[in-house]
Amino acid sequence: MSDILVVGSVGLDDVETPRGKVTKAMGGSAIYFSYAASYFSNVNIVGVAGDDFPLTEMKEDLKKRPVNFDGFEIIEGGKTFRWSGKYKNNMNDRDTLLTELNVFETFNPVIPSNYNNKPILFLANIHPILQNSVLEKVNSPQLVITDTMDFWIEGNRAEVDKVLKKSDIVIINNSEAELLTTYSNFTKAAKIIMKESNLKALVIKLGKFGVYLTNGNEHFFLPAYPVDEVFDPTGAGDTFAGGFTGYLAKVEKYDFETLKKAIVYGSVIASYTVSAFSVNALKNISDKEIEDKYKEFKDFVSF
Ligand code: AMP
Repeated sequence: MSDILVVGSVGLDDVETPRGKVTKAMGGSAIYFSYAASYFSNVNIVGVAGDDFPLTEMKEDLKKRPVNFDGFEIIEGGKTFRWSGKYKNNMNDRDTLLTELNVFETFNPVIPSNYNNKPILFLANIHPILQNSVLEKVNSPQLVITDTMDFWIEGNRAEVDKVLKKSDIVIINNSEAELLTTYSNFTKAAKIIMKESNLKALVIKLGKFGVYLTNGNEHFFLPAYPVDEVFDPTGAGDTFAGGFTGYLAKVEKYDFETLKKAIVYGSVIASYTVSAFSVNALKNISDKEIEDKYKEFKDFVSF
């Protein structure tokens, strides 16, 4: 099993969906990612929060799972990253109402020496300058997997391009693929991204419609795991990435067949996220439940 080192946002979210509303709920890309990936592998978090972040609650939730907080900094008197979003009735599209970097504005990530053991590096969604700074500080990662967001592509394109150049696998959604290439057709956008990069693989998330994976020669498409009731899609992308990366770290293989299985595990974990607000549905899933859902999913899509 490999270790995962993740850097990304640690946040307090205000979210409104047609099913309800939460304020100051635990969120952030690195948080959702860690809840999901720790079902599969060791996770080391690098991030920062103010003392308004419920770290004790998070540690209690994850106490039975292999999550190392040595690189997680709390700034006394500081304010945690804030994000607020409102979902449309289709639960797929959302408007961002607020993004406040707060303690991330001056964050200088320090990688604890015990984190530097040839990890799989996951650059979760956060300022690309921070992603680049972590890339430079981590000792020969065996695989670099990167996520980003419209907010950073629109505002910091050159830095985003620099991170993408140093990545092995990129996970984005279809609107981000369009921003990068101008093509709204995701297979066309994927062709262009693969042609113009050295990526080993590209994953394009299509929200409730599923996910597409390609290495340039081979292709895989999986629908989303059908969920009866969606309460809050926030974090689905980050938990998908957590299941995907966690599975790769567990099996330490990166061939296309393994990537396909990782896509299925990512989709299984994401199906939990959307069934409750914040990280609430990610606290107590058994390994058996994950395996049962994986097998059920296999039946759903085989013919
Ligand atoms: P997702 O629904 O997978 O896109 O993830 C939503 C999470 O990402 C929320 O918990 C937010 O706190 C966090 N987030 C939103 N915008 C940003 C941003 N610009 N940079 C980093 N994290 C963000």
